[in-house]
Amino acid sequence: MSDPVWRPYCQMKTAAPPVLISGAEGFELITADGRRLLDGMASWWSVCHGYGHPHIIEAVSRQLRQMPHVMFGGITHEPAERLAARLVERLPGDLNHVFFADSGSVAIEVAMKMASGYWRRHGQSDRTRFLAFDHAYHGDTTGAMSLCDPDRSMHARYGNAILKQVHCPLPRDEETTCVFIETIQQHHHELAAVCIEPLVQGAGGMRFHCPKTLRRIRDACDQFDLLMIADEIATGFGRTGTMFAIDATDVVPDIMCLGKALTAGTMTMAVTVAGDRVFDAFWSDEAADALMHGPTFMANPLACAAANASLDLFETEPRVAQASAMEAQLRRGLAPCRDLPGVVDVRCRGAIGVVQVEAIPDVERLRKRFVDLGVWLRPFGDCIYTTPPLNLPDERIKQLCEAIVRAIETGI
Ligand SMILES: *Cc1c(COP(=O)(O)O)cnc(C)c1O
Repeated sequence: MSDPVWRPYCQMKTAAPPVLISGAEGFELITADGRRLLDGMASWWSVCHGYGHPHIIEAVSRQLRQMPHVMFGGITHEPAERLAARLVERLPGDLNHVFFADSGSVAIEVAMKMASGYWRRHGQSDRTRFLAFDHAYHGDTTGAMSLCDPDRSMHARYGNAILKQVHCPLPRDEETTCVFIETIQQHHHELAAVCIEPLVQGAGGMRFHCPKTLRRIRDACDQFDLLMIADEIATGFGRTGTMFAIDATDVVPDIMCLGKALTAGTMTMAVTVAGDRVFDAFWSDEAADALMHGPTFMANPLACAAANASLDLFETEPRVAQASAMEAQLRRGLAPCRDLPGVVDVRCRGAIGVVQVEAIPDVERLRKRFVDLGVWLRPFGDCIYTTPPLNLPDERIKQLCEAIVRAIETGI
C-alpha cells in the first residue's frame, strides 16, 4: 500500500500509478512491459536530440572516467570553462558572465539575487521586488514561485510563505501596455527587475506573444531604469525555431536564465547569465560585495560535458532549422483539431504544438488514452501540448498529431 516515493504534482491518494519506464531510445520511451511510447514531451522540453545520442553518451562516459565531480569553489575545470565561453559566444549583446546553477528554479533564484544585489550596490536597497506577468511560470522554489501567476499557480496553497511580487498583463496592445506602464509607475521605487519568458509562456498556460511585446518590455525597462530578466529555461536551445527565443528580436536582456535542454536532457544543470552592467555592480575591492551563492554540485563536470556535447550537435547538425521547420508540420498535423467540438485554439511555434480545449474533465484518463495510442503526452490545465525532440522525423510528427486528433475526436 505505502508508496516510498512522493511524486510530483500528484495527489498521492487518488492518482493512478505512474508508468514504469525501463529504457529510452531515440524518440521512444520503453515501458517495463515492453511497449514503446513515442515521446511527445522530450522529458519536459529537455531531450532536444532524442534519447541516447552516441555523441553525448561518448562525451559523458569519457568525463565519468576522468572526473565525475569536483567542487567549484576555488577549483575549475575545462568542461566548465569551455561551456561558459561557448554560451557567451552564442548569446546576444553583453551577456558575458555565466553563473552555474543546479536547476532552472535555482537559476531564477540566482537571477533574483543578482538583480536585488545590483540595486543594493547602487544605494537603492529597497528595490527588492519583481514584476512578472499573468500566466507566468518561473519555477517551484519559493523565490521562483513568487514570480508565477498568483491566481493560476500554486501560490494560494502556500499563503504568506511566498513573497509578494507585482503582476500585470503582458503588454500585447495599447490597452495592456498602459496597464503595464501604470503598474511600473506605481511600484517603480521598489522594483528590481521585470521577468519574462520570451515568446512562449510555458507551464502557466502555453501562451505565445510576439517580439513587439518584448520590445515594449525592454523599452519600459530602459525608460524606468529597471533590469530585464529573460527566463529562457524552456525556450532556449532551438525550441521556438531560433537558438534562443530572444534571437528573433533585437532585445538584449540584462540577465538570462537557461536550463532544461542545456544538457540535452542528460542531467540537471542551469545557468544564469549576466550582462556587463549587472556583473560590474558586484566588482569591487570589498569581499562583502561578491555574489554569495555556490551550490555543492555547481558546474558538475558530467553536466558540463553533456552540455558541450549538445552544443557540438547544434553546430554539426541542422537542429535549429529542424525545430523551425517543425512548426509547419505541427500546424498541418493539428489543423483537423480546429473543427472538433470543445477545441478553443490550436497554436504552434517552432517545435511546440498546443491544442487548447474548453476543459479536460479527467486528465489521468486522457493520459492513459495517449499511452494506449502509443504516445507519451502529459496534458495539463486546458492544454494538450507537445514539445518533442527537435529532430523528430516528419512521419513521427504526423503520428503524434494523429494521436492528439484521435483522442479529441473520440471525446476527452
Ligand atoms: C521548467 C521551468 C523553470 C524551472 O526549471 P526547473 O529545472 O524545473 O527548476 C523555470 N522557468 C521556466 C520558464 C520553466 O519552463
